[in-house]
Amino acid sequence: MKKIDEKALIDIVGERNIKTDPSDLYVYGSDSSVHHAMPWAIVRPENTEQVQKIMTYANENLIPVITRGGGSGMCGQTVPIQGGIILDMKGMNKILEINLEDVYCRVQPGVVDDDLNLALKPYGVFYPPTPASSRIATIGGEIGNNASGVRSVKYGATRDAVLGMKVVLPNGDLASLGAHTRVEASGYQLHKLMVGSEGTLGVVVEATLSFVPIPEFRCMGVSNFNSLKDAGEAIGAIMASGATPSMLELVDSVAIKAVNKTMDLGLKEVAAALIFEADGMVKEAVDYEIEKMKKVCLQHRGEDIYSSYDPKERAKIFLGRKKLFPALSKYDDNLASTSLADDMAVPYSKMAEMAGKIHEIAKANDIVMTAYGHCGSGCMHTKILMDTKRKDQWASAKKAITQVYDYVRSVNGTTSAEHGIGLSKAESFKEEKSDSLVVLSAIKKALDPNNILNPGKLMQAPEDWVTATNLRYSVNS
Ligand SMILES: Cc1cc2nc3c(=O)[nH]c(=O)nc-3n(C[C@H](O)[C@H](O)[C@H](O)COP(=O)(O)OP(=O)(O)OC[C@H]3O[C@@H](n4cnc5c(N)ncnc54)[C@H](O)[C@@H]3O)c2cc1C
Repeated sequence: MKKIDEKALIDIVGERNIKTDPSDLYVYGSDSSVHHAMPWAIVRPENTEQVQKIMTYANENLIPVITRGGGSGMCGQTVPIQGGIILDMKGMNKILEINLEDVYCRVQPGVVDDDLNLALKPYGVFYPPTPASSRIATIGGEIGNNASGVRSVKYGATRDAVLGMKVVLPNGDLASLGAHTRVEASGYQLHKLMVGSEGTLGVVVEATLSFVPIPEFRCMGVSNFNSLKDAGEAIGAIMASGATPSMLELVDSVAIKAVNKTMDLGLKEVAAALIFEADGMVKEAVDYEIEKMKKVCLQHRGEDIYSSYDPKERAKIFLGRKKLFPALSKYDDNLASTSLADDMAVPYSKMAEMAGKIHEIAKANDIVMTAYGHCGSGCMHTKILMDTKRKDQWASAKKAITQVYDYVRSVNGTTSAEHGIGLSKAESFKEEKSDSLVVLSAIKKALDPNNILNPGKLMQAPEDWVTATNLRYSVNS
């Protein structure tokens, strides 16, 4: 292990902002992915100047720096595979400005998504890209991953909401990117490049974000389906009908069964269900959208269709979907839910086929997989439920992932819709971007010539990191 000069770091951030205890290092060695590796130190800066000094020190001493927000990334983005400093940005968590006149806010990167929306609520506005992990996800991490969420089908992903930012570059320089305006046509859109760069190009120390009015009316509906294919086809048909859902989510039979096992919701154990929502300032317009979606569901043999404006009813409809992630771990006492091949997007016309493929591939490989997600955005999630102690199950998972990804690419989909690349998706990323890898590597080299920011990620990830090695699970040999 390379030595870091703890004293130099203490001089920058103070003793209370550094951790080198092995138990702390262990915890910060993983995120919500299957991967783990030990960092050398955890450093929590409190301001931009400290970030600049840390980067200057790290750059001069060729020490890897892995910027971390909530650590909820699902693909190993913050796992320090070459060791180094974990730069814990949660100490920079101030909302700097809420500007109602110019319709933007400025925040530090460690602000948690839910906290931002709580602060915006009294002004009648909200920040829409919100992922399902909004209780822990930070704005910096959402920028790093280009996160999106249930309402992205109408309001867009993080990249759409970021107007500008301040970034500390690997050499410690501070750069202001983007603008405070809605439009900006001055050269390379570097702030957009930072979104989705997974902490490999710079450290975001401030972000300027747009927000939108909270709609007066929200109506949520649900439709059951006895066939996954019908539900999948209804998704495409809703989107092609000209409807503008503010949410369109799919849950399959595995997901419904898992939710029923953990919560007393009494969901009907059908093949699939669609949850849909419309919102707006005019009730008649919302009614119109909801009726349109209900009609499409009916045309695709949807059953038990109903909708409600009542906030309590809406919360009830959505509760199962909201708690799905922890529920999946209870599907079977012997199976753990792993974030592998967890997030893809395919064209709408392929949603039904994709959902079917997931089940088919799972069965052929003796594992359980579920199909769910923000399907209105073309996004399809899955989790692999398996006995993580069994080596053969990891081999089966790897086979299943390869088959799922091959299918996704064959229909012009992408193997990462919103969870990013990190380590888990790196092999597939390299295949998907094979003809632009040279450009991506050149950008990385131009901004980070010493390769200190999150090294070994995205196109740099070694093949053997993708699955089944350096896991945070203990696997029997
Ligand atoms: C239960 C659960 C549900 C989820 N649901 C969703 C969902 O609906 N949609 C979705 O998109 N994702 C989802 N995720 C994945 C994840 O929560 C999001 O991608 C989230 O945005 C990550 O935020 P974070 O603060 O935890 O980032 P981290 O995991 O800490 O970091 C993510 C990436 O951003 C980089 N980064 C962090 N801060 C900075 C910074 N200041 N400057 C530069 N780079 C930085 C990191 O280096 C890393 O590469 C979910 C995860 C869980 C566990």
